[in-house]
Amino acid sequence: MKSNTITFFNKSIYKVFECPLCKSKKRKTLGLYQKNLYSEMLSKILKINESKLINKIKNVKCKNCSLVYKNFWFKDKILSNLFKSRILIHPKGNDIFENKFNKNFFSSEIKKLENKTNSESIRKTKRILISILDSVRSKNIKIIKGIKILKSEKKFSSNDFVRLLSLKKFITKPKRFSRFIGYKDKKLWNFLERKIKILSYAETGCPAWGLLEMARRNKVKTKFVISKDKNFWNERKGCLIKSKLNKRILVNDLKYLNKVSLFGIIEYFDHLNDPLRFIKNVSTKSENFYLILDDLEDGKVPIQHFTGWGKKSIKFLSFKLTRKVYIYQNYFTHKKMIFAIFKDL
Ligand SMILES: [Zn+2]
Repeated sequence: MKSNTITFFNKSIYKVFECPLCKSKKRKTLGLYQKNLYSEMLSKILKINESKLINKIKNVKCKNCSLVYKNFWFKDKILSNLFKSRILIHPKGNDIFENKFNKNFFSSEIKKLENKTNSESIRKTKRILISILDSVRSKNIKIIKGIKILKSEKKFSSNDFVRLLSLKKFITKPKRFSRFIGYKDKKLWNFLERKIKILSYAETGCPAWGLLEMARRNKVKTKFVISKDKNFWNERKGCLIKSKLNKRILVNDLKYLNKVSLFGIIEYFDHLNDPLRFIKNVSTKSENFYLILDDLEDGKVPIQHFTGWGKKSIKFLSFKLTRKVYIYQNYFTHKKMIFAIFKDL
């Protein structure tokens, strides 16, 4: 490695010596994960080739508790740069508010692709188109083929454009729990209510996609705790404004929250640099809490997530917290997610 690359790494990332959950040093290195918007932006911030970056920041799996975590992690200033200037607004949260899941938007984005030459802008448009196709309800094989075309790095033929445009007809209503709808789901709320007597409810993460509105509709006292984590968006500049939450329900710090009967943590936990400390705090502030996150114990945890969780690591976590846990791995059928409800023993 060139000496300037080494200096750069020393300034920007640090080595993670032990498992953030159980502190064991025993681990095995896992295979590569996919490039995405975050690896592209991080490679720009760090001024290093994207493939080189992915080769350096690897996923490792703890041999004791099965948690997947990164062997190196980014220093705070890099994370701040990523979330405060490069990807200022949470893309998935933002999709809840922007009317992108419709036929006209889809075909206009495809037409834009025909004229684009800038590779970054092409990648961006392709990502948007893939996210739309990923969210359609139909399981038609043509959709899978369309995604394959969009994922390929080859230049499109005119036939490819025709094929992609023909997929427009499948864009009707987004799938449940897809990024254009989020988790604002009546059945999900009812499911939780059957398990827990919910008198008060709090949530953290992105204010756009959770169950806050369901709680409010059900006349449950609701709070939203604004995240202060370095590896997450400053929602005050994005989804918090767009979600128009009543200011009275906002809590600036977890320590100011009065104990609630249920606390929800949706697609947030795997971002955190210190997940254990966070969850211990949540545990003292709630009678019950639940986690929804990617089920990635064996998988390819993307670059922006510090940890990857699955059944074994969640169980280990419940022992650590002396809580009972109920794990549902197939609740979100078409999405590989872990849904874990933690209750008192
Ligand atoms: Zn461990």
